[in-house]
Amino acid sequence: MELVYGPVTSHRYGTTLGVNLLGREKVCSYNCVYCGLGPTSLTMNKVRKDYIFPSLDDLRDAFRQYIKKSVPVDAVVVSGNGEPTLYPEFDEAMRMIHHLREEHLPGKKIVVLTNGAHLDSKKAVAGLGLADERVIKIDAGNDSLLQKVNDPLIRINMAKFLNGVHKLKDCTVQSLFFTGDIDNTLNEAIEDWIEVLGMVKPKTIQICTLTRPSKTLPSLKAVDEDTLYSIAFKLKKRTGLEANVFPLPQAG
Ligand code: SF4
Repeated sequence: MELVYGPVTSHRYGTTLGVNLLGREKVCSYNCVYCGLGPTSLTMNKVRKDYIFPSLDDLRDAFRQYIKKSVPVDAVVVSGNGEPTLYPEFDEAMRMIHHLREEHLPGKKIVVLTNGAHLDSKKAVAGLGLADERVIKIDAGNDSLLQKVNDPLIRINMAKFLNGVHKLKDCTVQSLFFTGDIDNTLNEAIEDWIEVLGMVKPKTIQICTLTRPSKTLPSLKAVDEDTLYSIAFKLKKRTGLEANVFPLPQAG
């Protein structure tokens, strides 16, 4: 994946330009069973000690080169080859993207897709604060399902996660539902997920399912549109929160 790529058509954000702070390899602190990038093979230890991230200069040059192609976009999406907040100078990178947006794409939205597992880091919180929209992943509402679905490579649990999310000024939550050998649509799972969403109180909620086979666990199956609407209905009934249902695939 290039450092700056696109245009990518997104049902949520229109035509987008993608920024990949992570370089050629997948760099993530999760190993989600459905990840479109496949399994996470780099350990966090290796990432912290040996991995060479792209420099800010390389990222700036790639952004400017892309803009020269003059492909119009509706939004800049920071996502790429894994978890963007793992970039060592994430706050600096976001400042730079903010300047580049002001210079070349005024008025266009900056969106960051994150697993939200690094919000104990001041740099992550500060960087995310510079985005117009912070999209946090919540596929599970309890610790045991978090382990199964997102298979974290770091120490994280729901309490720590929620503590981090509350440091953000606001957020969008994106949740992906599926059945199979791991199923996050069973009653108890949905009840716990609703409880967590009630605590987070996101500005916007996006719920979606798989439409590509999982590379990590091929037994996973997409859920139908009715199931997604029924989850949205239960959420609204219990918390008053409205979810947008996206039956089509979601990136990252
Ligand atoms: S889906 Fe996102 S958070 Fe999960 S492993 Fe893939 S890149 Fe990481």
